[in-house]
Amino acid sequence: MAAAVTAAVSFPSTKSTSLTSRTSIVAPERVVFKKVPLQYTSGRVVSIRAQVTTDTDTQAPPAKVEKVHKKQEEGVVVNKFKPKNPYIGRVLLNSKITGDDAPGETWHMVFSTEGEVPYREGQSIGVIPEGIDKNGKPHKLRLYSIASSALGDFGDSKTVSLCVKRLVYTNDSGEIVKGVCSNFLCDLKPGSEVTITGPVGKEMLMPKDPNATVIMLATGTGIAPFRSFLWKMFFEKHDDYKFNGLAWLFLGVPTSSSLLYKEEFEKMKEKSPENFRLDFAVSREQTNDKGEKMYIQTRMAQYAEELWQLLKKDNTFVYMCGLKGMEKGIDDIMVSLAARDGIDWIEYKRQLKKAEQWNVEVY
Ligand code: NAP
Repeated sequence: MAAAVTAAVSFPSTKSTSLTSRTSIVAPERVVFKKVPLQYTSGRVVSIRAQVTTDTDTQAPPAKVEKVHKKQEEGVVVNKFKPKNPYIGRVLLNSKITGDDAPGETWHMVFSTEGEVPYREGQSIGVIPEGIDKNGKPHKLRLYSIASSALGDFGDSKTVSLCVKRLVYTNDSGEIVKGVCSNFLCDLKPGSEVTITGPVGKEMLMPKDPNATVIMLATGTGIAPFRSFLWKMFFEKHDDYKFNGLAWLFLGVPTSSSLLYKEEFEKMKEKSPENFRLDFAVSREQTNDKGEKMYIQTRMAQYAEELWQLLKKDNTFVYMCGLKGMEKGIDDIMVSLAARDGIDWIEYKRQLKKAEQWNVEVY
């Protein structure tokens, strides 16, 4: 049985994006989200995590949603379309969302799927660029994190959106090299065809618990899955999901002109100030008190104690997406925080990962 989900989707039109805004759209063919009984589960956290005490431990336990492991999550589709039988979508919209003076261009694009690519928030799709490679073979697919919620930017479950940075660099011989797929995508005009595979991936599926604390750590286009989460949390109405926890987004970008989806996130904060926190780290414009470059981990360090307290809770989920380098930077601040409580961060993180509370997709 397909659930009719009423989606009240509204988002600000911004200077940089010209996406159409829709309200109160009924999506007829939605994936059914089973209502899970609320129940408190204790005793899941073992050894090292059990040594940790927090203020929250002394309070009444929060209502928790029964744990469903990501890999077993019902109704999550993977690999419906493969390179040999891809889905051919069409470009509905493609706009540059970074300023002209930003270092590099990032584009937001929306493809039609007619509801045939049934993805969840946190999944990716593959794209096979047109043309052939230097050996005369068709290009291989590239994976991109989906930037729209499952309802899609138009609220009808019939589109999928991506956030793509155009890759252009000069190689050691001084030649300009252009990334095949990112340039193919950023140059796509509305109406053109695009060859899609997937959906794929379960690592970044969002927590089902509507009361969870969800800490999202993104650099650059690593923002994609979090835009998807946040639309579901703050721009949509679902019969079976109403976010009432804390969503905390840290986004690291080089310049203010490369802040992605800033107006959308600010709108969310305006709508739900109690449930959404937003922190930017603009590396080439901001520094900390010591004059150090403001990377995402530098911004996080300013809230170190608060973050550490949140990390001790059973229903806090951390997601990291973007540049590989951020993972080590974030580990470094966590090591010293954990050490204050006599805890070995690497072991603690291993347990968080096991409990699916520490989720990483970096390249
Ligand atoms: P970008 O616009 O260049 O922004 C990246 C930001 O991170 C910049 O502010 C950069 O600072 C900063 N940074 C550099 N080294 C860092 C480090 N060690 N720790 C913390 N921050 C650091 O980003 P982008 O070009 O969009 O790149 C995003 C990356 O995410 C790409 O590698 C892409 O492949 C990956 N990505 C992954 C996924 C996924 O895993 N599913 C999805 C989307 C994108 P400076 O440049 O000033 O040093």
